Amino acid sequence: MRHDIVGRFAPTPSGRLHLGNLLCALLAWLSARSQGGRVLLRIENLDTARTSLDYARQLEQDLAFLGLDWDEGGSKGGSHAPYYQHLRSRWYESQLEVLQRQGLVYPCFCSRAQLHAAQAPHASDGEYIYNGACRDLSPEEVAQRASTRPPALRLRVPSDEICFTDGHYGPVRQNLDAECGDFILRRSDGVFAYQLAVVADDAAMGVTQVVRGRDLLSSTPRQLYLYRLLGFRPPQFIHTPMLLASDGRRLSKRDQDLSLDTLRGQGLTARAIIGRLAFAAGLLDRPVPVSSQELLPIFDWEKVPREDIRLPTGLF
Ligand code: GLU
Repeated sequence: MRHDIVGRFAPTPSGRLHLGNLLCALLAWLSARSQGGRVLLRIENLDTARTSLDYARQLEQDLAFLGLDWDEGGSKGGSHAPYYQHLRSRWYESQLEVLQRQGLVYPCFCSRAQLHAAQAPHASDGEYIYNGACRDLSPEEVAQRASTRPPALRLRVPSDEICFTDGHYGPVRQNLDAECGDFILRRSDGVFAYQLAVVADDAAMGVTQVVRGRDLLSSTPRQLYLYRLLGFRPPQFIHTPMLLASDGRRLSKRDQDLSLDTLRGQGLTARAIIGRLAFAAGLLDRPVPVSSQELLPIFDWEKVPREDIRLPTGLF
C-alpha cells in the first residue's frame, strides 16, 4: 500500500459528464484507491465563459452517484482550497512571475488568423506549432504593438528532448521546439492557459499521480518542462485510452445520448453503469453490475487496453 499517493479528478465543467469522462474518473479513482491513496477534485473552470458552476455542481453529484468519492476539493473544500481554478489567479500570477524572472516569457501579438495562416499543424493533436514571429521583438516594437492590442504571453522553449515514462503507454519523447513550439501561458484576454494552471495546481495540491485521457499525452512534455522551471517535483503520469462511440467517433460533451444524465433517465443504476464501463475497459469479462468498491481488488492497469476503446454496440 502506498498511502502517500494523491490522485485527482480535474474535470472542466463545460457540459454534462459523458461516458469517456466517467471512464477516466473511474480509472483515476481505482488507480489511487487500490493503492490506498487519496483523491482530490479540482474544478478546471479557468475559462468562465465556457464553463458553469451549475455543471460543476452536477458533476459532483454524478461522481457521488457512481461511488467515486474524494477526500478534498470541489464544494467539499479542504486544506488546499480553493479548488476552483477561477479563484486561483493570484497563484498562477506568482508562478508566471517565476518564469518571467528567468527571462523565458515574451508577449505575442499574433491574431488567431495569423497563427493559423503561418503555422504547421502539430502532428499529434491538431494544435499549431508557433513560428516564433514575436519571439525577438524589440522593446520599442512591443510598446508600439501593445498600444493597439493586449498581448498573450508565451514561454520560450529550448530545442531539448523531454523524455518520460508514462505509466500506461511507456516511454515518450518529444522535442519541445520542433514538436510543440513556444506555448501560451496567458491568453490575450488575461485567462491563464491550461498548461500553466494544471502544473501550478497539481504541484500546490500535492498531487502525485495524474490519470487522464490520452488526448493529453502530448501536453505532458510541456508540463514536465514547466515542473522543471518552477522547481516542483512532477507527479507520475498515467494516460488512459479514449472511449469511442460504437461507430468509432470520439465522445464529446455534445454526445448527450451517452451522458450520465440520459443513462440515469433510462433507469440505469450506478452499478449497471460501472459494470458496463469496467467491462469496456477490460476489467470484467462480462458487463455485470458492480460497485466501484468491488472493482478495487481486481483493478490492474495491465488489464486496460492501450488502443482506444470502442463501445460495443448495444452496451449502453
Ligand atoms: N480539465 C481537463 C479536462 O477536463 C483535464 C486536465 C488534466 O487532467 O490534466 O479535459
